[in-house]
Amino acid sequence: MADEPTQVAAEECVALGHEQQTLQAFAARQTHLGDLEIIRALPIREKRLVGPWCFLDRYGPLSFSDSKPMDVAPHPHCGLQTVTWLLDGEVLHDDSIGSQSLLRPGGVNIMTSGSAIAHAEQTPRENSGKLNGVQLWTALPDSARNRPASFQHVDDVPRLELPGGIVKVFAGALEIANSGGEYFSPIFGSELNVHLASELEVPLAPAFEHAVLLLQGDASLEGQPLDPRSLYYLGTQRLSVNFRSRAGAKILLIGGEPFQEKILMWWNFVARTPEEIADARKQWQARERFGEVKAYAGPRLDAPPLINLARPNPAS
Ligand code: MN
Repeated sequence: MADEPTQVAAEECVALGHEQQTLQAFAARQTHLGDLEIIRALPIREKRLVGPWCFLDRYGPLSFSDSKPMDVAPHPHCGLQTVTWLLDGEVLHDDSIGSQSLLRPGGVNIMTSGSAIAHAEQTPRENSGKLNGVQLWTALPDSARNRPASFQHVDDVPRLELPGGIVKVFAGALEIANSGGEYFSPIFGSELNVHLASELEVPLAPAFEHAVLLLQGDASLEGQPLDPRSLYYLGTQRLSVNFRSRAGAKILLIGGEPFQEKILMWWNFVARTPEEIADARKQWQARERFGEVKAYAGPRLDAPPLINLARPNPAS
């Protein structure tokens, strides 16, 4: 048995890493997170990531009265960071290292799993009746993926006012706006607000690859109207990117140096080998390694079987 390779239905993901400018649309797919309908834009179908960004879920906009649209029970992560950014509403985060954080629009939650953490995310009891946001993951490079888990909350990220709009920087830096977020490879992440009937030009690092997702309103990029259900990949070697909007827009702009390592993604784990994934699954099921989310009332999520013909749905 020791010679048998471990069978895991993991996705092997590598950087897009286009060496020039480009503009390519990749259709996002519709899926669900518990009862919540979401759009998953990363990893894109060709199993690619943008810089270190390996996962992108878009949820909302939605309004609710007596329900609790987000209720993701405790689940484990390794080898990644979760980065949560809201346009409307609230998300309550609890984890197995005792962090608790109420996230609101304008702030960011950055959870670094290192070798192991578990967390739960839910709509808090007191809420605005709205939910609208994104959750992203970054793949941790080999030098950081076995570090101890940590959690960072930034209440109000730095913003840069430019002609025609505002850039809210939650990862990396743009000119004087430095997110202050702890990341482990060259990265950029922001929400762009394009004002009504305006044009916004955002400077870019040419060594980075970038992608954009329209979150709200209308916008065009190089004359191409953006569809909110597609991720637009821009390639590298751009000094800037230019958007126009008639009624105003909110746009997610992410990027980073093309990630140098090939990663394996399965359920909520980012690893390098099937054996690492099999070990992580076994340890979660045995209540080892990842700790307990004591602040969450209710059962935790069970890992799916390792060999799953249908790709397991990450709990983000
Ligand atoms: Mn998660």
